[in-house]
Amino acid sequence: MKYFDSHAHYYDARFEEEMEESVDSLIDVLLSSSVSHIINVGTCAETSRLAIEQAKKHENMYTAIGVHPSDAQHVGRTLDEELADVEGLIRDAGSKCLALGEIGLDYHYPDTDKALQHRYLDAQLTLARELDLPVVIHDRDSHEDIMSVLRAHKGVRGVLHSFSGSAEMAREVIKLGYMISFSGTLTFKNARRPKEVAAILPRELALIETDCPYLAPHPKRGTLNHSGNLSYTNAVLAEIFGIDAEECAALTAENARRLFGIK
Ligand SMILES: [Zn+2]
Repeated sequence: MKYFDSHAHYYDARFEEEMEESVDSLIDVLLSSSVSHIINVGTCAETSRLAIEQAKKHENMYTAIGVHPSDAQHVGRTLDEELADVEGLIRDAGSKCLALGEIGLDYHYPDTDKALQHRYLDAQLTLARELDLPVVIHDRDSHEDIMSVLRAHKGVRGVLHSFSGSAEMAREVIKLGYMISFSGTLTFKNARRPKEVAAILPRELALIETDCPYLAPHPKRGTLNHSGNLSYTNAVLAEIFGIDAEECAALTAENARRLFGIK
């Protein structure tokens, strides 16, 4: 059984800080055992550069490149400078870059600059359309606004990662042509909403992800997450879909390959 990790951040310093072995040897072990592919997702030009460097070392690791809404406020440069770099990185990465992301809105923190986040999101959705790339959308505490922005950019395709909206919102999202990705939050004891979303989601639109090093699934909650933990999220999703784990792993991997254009 092989899992497709549709969202990971393996350049995060926590891997080198908290592990004995190097992150590259961890990735090698995972990709030669239980994991078929990994999408290593950047959050600004600088981390996207790190994501590409790592992906170049591993055959089945690819990247999404873009500016995360929270990072947008802290890059210390103008939007034009940052996005010129992002576009250059996407072009240089060639076949190693399969998506634009992660991009979106995040209203969680008190210092949120909504206007700036909207400018970044809008510009990057426009760029995704120009480059014909799928997008990886981050939406935290901003459900209403993300829906109106996605509606305004109808025709762009992609995935809402670690989806935290309601079943009702999921219905709207899939009408716009997006897929939905489940992280370890699906396995949490209090995870009513993601389970309700999975229950109404057409199977061919479901992805799984770690968002590692964050969001380790139950029973690993609170530990350093990695793609080897996808089995827990996959098992819960399989149960909701009423299929066996192997079928669910194959199904979500096939969905991810279709979205990211991997043959
Ligand atoms: Zn992420």
